[in-house]
Amino acid sequence: MTKTVDVVVIGGGLAAMKSAVTAAKSGLEVLIIVKRNICSGASFYPMMDMVACQSSTGVPAEDAEYLAEILDCSLGMADETMNRTYISTIRDRVKEFPEIGVTEYKLTEPKVACFAVKARPTYVWSDWIKIRKNMRAIIDSTPNLNLMENTTVLALLKDDERVSGVLIKNDDGISSIACKSVVLATGGMGDLYKYNLNTSDVSGDGQAMALAAGAKLINVEFNQFIPGFVRPAYKTVFRETTVPYMEKFLSPDGRDLLAEILPDKSEREECLRLRSKHGPFTHRTIARYFDFAMMRGILDGGYEEQGFAINYKPEIADDESTFVRPYYNWLIREHKVDLAKDTVYIAPFYHAANGGVLIGHNCETSIKGLFACGEVSGGIHGADRQGGQSTGSCLVFGYLAGKNAAEYAQGQSVGKTVNPKEALNSTFVGSGNLEPEYTTNKIRNIMFKHGNVMRSEKPLKDAIAEIKTMQEDYAPLKYMEGDNAKEAFKARNFLILSQALLNAMLNRQESRGSHYRDDFPNTDPKFERRFTVSLSDGKIKVESEKSV
Ligand SMILES: Cc1cc2nc3c(=O)[nH]c(=O)nc-3n(C[C@H](O)[C@H](O)[C@H](O)COP(=O)(O)OP(=O)(O)OC[C@H]3O[C@@H](n4cnc5c(N)ncnc54)[C@H](O)[C@@H]3O)c2cc1C
Repeated sequence: MTKTVDVVVIGGGLAAMKSAVTAAKSGLEVLIIVKRNICSGASFYPMMDMVACQSSTGVPAEDAEYLAEILDCSLGMADETMNRTYISTIRDRVKEFPEIGVTEYKLTEPKVACFAVKARPTYVWSDWIKIRKNMRAIIDSTPNLNLMENTTVLALLKDDERVSGVLIKNDDGISSIACKSVVLATGGMGDLYKYNLNTSDVSGDGQAMALAAGAKLINVEFNQFIPGFVRPAYKTVFRETTVPYMEKFLSPDGRDLLAEILPDKSEREECLRLRSKHGPFTHRTIARYFDFAMMRGILDGGYEEQGFAINYKPEIADDESTFVRPYYNWLIREHKVDLAKDTVYIAPFYHAANGGVLIGHNCETSIKGLFACGEVSGGIHGADRQGGQSTGSCLVFGYLAGKNAAEYAQGQSVGKTVNPKEALNSTFVGSGNLEPEYTTNKIRNIMFKHGNVMRSEKPLKDAIAEIKTMQEDYAPLKYMEGDNAKEAFKARNFLILSQALLNAMLNRQESRGSHYRDDFPNTDPKFERRFTVSLSDGKIKVESEKSV
């Protein structure tokens, strides 16, 4: 028998927790469904020492400045109304941290976030184990808030034009849950890339499921890449604040690729100074050559497996600042890496999505009853995103998504129940012989090389053609009920999502913030338009807000 609830929240990160707790305040039955455990995803990435959230001050002139900075940083690609909402409500949301079990602390001094100009109130937290324990206690003590862990949502089910439930897979097999509204909070898509700073449950499922159900994506060509450790302590975040202590930055065979690639050799110091100010890559300053040096080495030098060697000056051990000392100590404690002594090898790692499922100002999607928030959603951030605004958006828009999903559900009856077998058959169509694992690995490699910090037309076109051919030879249904179901689902999603991203990257024939085209290195005012991506009859369609 199909289980019935009022609101389903998909995900176990910050956005899901915030929206579920908010929706449950309505008294409706709320069910959180999460692939692994509550408090997972990028929000609780085990290979990072802390996360931060940037707040506003509430002083009108300062808030106006904050808005101007965010919009400037987005290079015309962010929704102004949503960012007004962020600035006017984030102060309330940070006060509610205890409602989702987060034990944060406010930095004594305001901090200048990545890509920001002014220092702002900053909240920081790091104790994942304690937060998880707190959140479990909150769920246990809220009778109408339920949790289903180790369960993957495979598809969004619809009754005509409205969402009516979800198709799920867990140890009990494949079944469906009927509901009145759904909040999609499945996070970003790191696993789509060979090197990424996400856990493997963050694999773009929400974006792919939303596309397949008829929703649109926006701004998906804008993704953040941050250097990460290839070795030791694979997938550890590299903190840009350590750059001033960098003594050597060399290819595995000792080449100084930065010196080779910098057009003006006298700018090396300035390049490194600027690169120490922001974690994610952006093309807009000469700091870009730091990332280009690695990417050129990967594309032309075949260095991708080894990473680029960094040695630090011993003085790094004496830095007492907030964004060096805890990181330095954490690396020694958790990973036995001493930056003052050990060589670390880094490369560009996929970090976070700036775009995602297109939402309106109430977190609604184009499908009735389907809401989205957190990193899976798109429109709030643009070509670059200020630091501390992603976790903050999980709170601000998680709150709105939860509240609005509950309000929507109040006025609805449960949609038509669906036969899981039928839903499975109609969702996972295709014929062919490709193995799921081969498909996911192949796509990760393609995205790593051609959807990374350096992009250009021919490789993008070749990548799209290769993935299309793979899609024609892939039959997910063959595997969906067997042991390989998770990988089969992932491969289906990767085939859809990689094409969505690569096509958006191909269409944007300019460079803007995190999107850099080697063949179009400048920002072109003609492209000050956002691209949306949709899926129709298995084909990806990219449209700009107005035609370019
Ligand atoms: C290393 C690192 C450091 C960062 N530091 C900062 C920072 O300091 N400040 C900042 O603002 N941002 C930071 N970010 C970005 C920020 O952490 C994320 O954007 C944000 O936490 C995403 O939260 P989320 O809830 O949307 O998604 P996630 O936290 O990624 O959660 C997604 C959840 O969905 C679940 N899920 C996925 N698919 C399914 C499915 N099919 N069925 C069921 N469940 C599913 C996953 O298991 C997971 O629980 C950082 C990111 C990384 C990777």
